[in-house]
Amino acid sequence: MADVRKLAVIGSGAAGCAAAWFLRQAGHHVTLYEKNEAPGGRIQTWQGETASINTGAVFFTNFYPLLWELLGETGLARRIMSCDKAVVLSDRQQRYAYNVASVRSFFGIPWLSMKEKLRVIRHTVGLLLRKTRFDLADPRQLARFDHQSIADYARQHLGDTIYHYLVRPAIEPYWYFSCEQASAALMMALQAEVPGVQFYTLRGGMEQIARALLKDVSVRFRTEVVDVRYMPDSRQVQLRLKDASETEVFDGVIVATQAHQAAALTASLDETLVSPEQRSFLAEQKYAACVTVWFRSGSISMGDCGFQLAPTGPGTHGLAAWTDLSQTESDSAAPNERIVGAWLRDALSRKLLDEPDDVVIRTAWQEARLFSPELPEQPAEAVHLVRRRCAIPIPEPGRYRRMVDFRQRQKPPVVFAGDYLATATVEGALRSGQTAAALFGI
Ligand SMILES: Cc1cc2nc3c(=O)[nH]c(=O)nc-3n(C[C@H](O)[C@H](O)[C@H](O)COP(=O)(O)OP(=O)(O)OC[C@H]3O[C@@H](n4cnc5c(N)ncnc54)[C@H](O)[C@@H]3O)c2cc1C
Repeated sequence: MADVRKLAVIGSGAAGCAAAWFLRQAGHHVTLYEKNEAPGGRIQTWQGETASINTGAVFFTNFYPLLWELLGETGLARRIMSCDKAVVLSDRQQRYAYNVASVRSFFGIPWLSMKEKLRVIRHTVGLLLRKTRFDLADPRQLARFDHQSIADYARQHLGDTIYHYLVRPAIEPYWYFSCEQASAALMMALQAEVPGVQFYTLRGGMEQIARALLKDVSVRFRTEVVDVRYMPDSRQVQLRLKDASETEVFDGVIVATQAHQAAALTASLDETLVSPEQRSFLAEQKYAACVTVWFRSGSISMGDCGFQLAPTGPGTHGLAAWTDLSQTESDSAAPNERIVGAWLRDALSRKLLDEPDDVVIRTAWQEARLFSPELPEQPAEAVHLVRRRCAIPIPEPGRYRRMVDFRQRQKPPVVFAGDYLATATVEGALRSGQTAAALFGI
């Protein structure tokens, strides 16, 4: 076993929780600081009177190996629930329930010609034959394919129609940014996984993952760290807390916040601890915004949005997705209560971040109506609303290569974790936490 050390983790999102879990398993003494009153960060679950709502991550796939392992070890495996309905694609005029794991369903897609479908299959088989691993959570495997945007890559290799009707709905409903902004490596990793993909969620909410991982960890909620300093004489790290006169001292720290927060927290460290390259990587990280409104549908028919309805086709879409909670959290909603969430894309979310609630609610409803025209003009009752300015780190072209460089430079006593060091998924965040913990000897 490694030397037992006194270590701190800042942030209780998936990355921080995984880091704390692995450090604890290795026998280290761990204190975790979280500025909010509850754990989870972007996997938090809002507990309403009659329903629990995942306000960030909703689902995971069979391609999240670390999450599956942790769900088994923490006893949460029994709460896994399969989301087995198709994703409904809508171009406003026409809808198609597309089961991404079914070849038959793929051949039924109405917007693509047979020639285009065969082109997609040839391209996917070509990727699989390369036998390259495309692990979404491992930037080392994606860095080789990181030279152009998804839009450029898809148009060049697959053509415009496939790009708009198949590629965009595979990315934009889940990450909120545009395919013009993101690296082609993300698309290739997804394309390689699609043939066998299956979606799941956790009955009772994704936040349980954070709670389970922190079970034996000393956690200080409502405690914001404002500064990380290094003390060369003792080779220890000092944390300064908001509204506290005392500082706290550790042998090392894992900063598991978002990138801009990590940059601010470590601003006073010299370049032997945080290199100029790492500093600019943190400062330059862009995030997509996401505003989400959940509606109680009562007797209103929401149309068949399956587990998720996603816009397809050319043009800018304000709606990212329309998710039916009864498909993903069925034991938490009261009988006859159907709650549907409208998730808005980055550009529209940005416009709404500072608008009053009634404007946000009306806009979200109108956007949903564009793709589900049977909805009435008057919005259903809104049960919850979340505005996130920094929802999803954008993996711009070149970003995966810079992640590899950043990760190679990581060394104790100050180490970083977070989804901006992988792809923004629960698995990516967990794996970044595991990798960070490994640097302290686990
Ligand atoms: C709307 C939305 C939907 C998503 N859907 C999915 C999905 O369906 N499936 C999927 O796999 N992924 C999804 N994701 C992505 C996934 O949720 C994230 O990638 C992941 O949860 C990020 O975890 P993290 O630990 O890196 O960051 P965070 O969860 O943001 O954690 C950072 C934590 O640090 C705390 N903190 C920050 N500063 C300080 C400080 N100074 N002192 C103390 N604490 C501090 C914050 O309060 C926060 O709790 C979604 C994300 C969003 C926003």
